[in-house]
Amino acid sequence: MEQVKKSPFLQEWLDGPLPSADSIGRISNLIEPNTVRQAIHAIYAQLRRNKTIIAPWHGLLALVVDGHESHASYRRCCEGCLQREIRTEKGPRTQYYHRNVSAMLLGRDFEIFLDSEPQRPSEDEVATAIRLLDRLLSAYPRAFDLVLADALYTDPRFFSFLQSRGKDVLTVLKENQPGLLEEARTLSELTPVTSITEGREKIECWDLNGFNPWPQINKSLRVLHARETTTIKRQLDRKLEEQVSEWFWLTTLGSHQANSKAVVELGHNRWLIENHGFNEAVNEWEGDHVYKHQPTAILVFTLLCIVTYNLFHAFWARNLKAALKAKVTMRHVARCILQELYAGLNRPLHLPQPP
Ligand SMILES: [Zn+2]
Repeated sequence: MEQVKKSPFLQEWLDGPLPSADSIGRISNLIEPNTVRQAIHAIYAQLRRNKTIIAPWHGLLALVVDGHESHASYRRCCEGCLQREIRTEKGPRTQYYHRNVSAMLLGRDFEIFLDSEPQRPSEDEVATAIRLLDRLLSAYPRAFDLVLADALYTDPRFFSFLQSRGKDVLTVLKENQPGLLEEARTLSELTPVTSITEGREKIECWDLNGFNPWPQINKSLRVLHARETTTIKRQLDRKLEEQVSEWFWLTTLGSHQANSKAVVELGHNRWLIENHGFNEAVNEWEGDHVYKHQPTAILVFTLLCIVTYNLFHAFWARNLKAALKAKVTMRHVARCILQELYAGLNRPLHLPQPP
């Protein structure tokens, strides 16, 4: 920013001078984060008005929530830092880090982030997620029907909170709930299997009902056990090889809302927040960079990254023609935008003259 600050193009575009990088860092720590959240909401509301957010599966709009650790340091800390002991060669050391829980809305063809909430030093990730969802349910009451999350969220607090607010839940069931997992395995052996075949993939499903693991939940839960077999051709010797993976999902969704196949699809779409969301935010948008190590500034930069991510994805999904998108990558489109910006910044371009 310091390098391009004096550009007349930027002055004209912003209708005033660009503040210094220092000022932007300092001011970011003074901004009320909810004002940036309102900007995210305004983009969502416009997309919704334009009917661009369409439920992809069986009329269900899903929200994924997940935690993401942005950075860790042994040296720098602030009052918003979480801390843990790390064993090193020189003995145990205190490491400081920040973790946010973010929410991503899954529409047909594209996903947008709706919000992010920092985990506080005194709480666990589930408590942060509940605070995030409480705010989202007020700001976006009808934006989603169910919440998808990983095994960490297979927790009575999470299920009872969402049930009390009239939303469905689907989480991964793993060894962190050993009793429930064992019960599901046993019941699978007594239940007939149904098979779904799609291309090279075969899914064997055991759709199990009547689970009451926690007294806080006054509704029987459903477990879907799936064994997925994919046939792949090995690159080395071109031989066919079978890959098998096994999944258990715990959900409040009844079979009238989502059949076995829909539950499997929804369950796998949980990864979109990691594979598309966090991965792209970090690697393409510098989402984890700490521009200013102060808790509000870190949150404000995360929320600004969400604004950028959503605008770019809305542009890609809705403004570009399918024929163009088949030929170019997202990164190419981003570079074209950057090129236009730089061309404006450097009018006329001062290129070194050949000797
Ligand atoms: Zn910190």
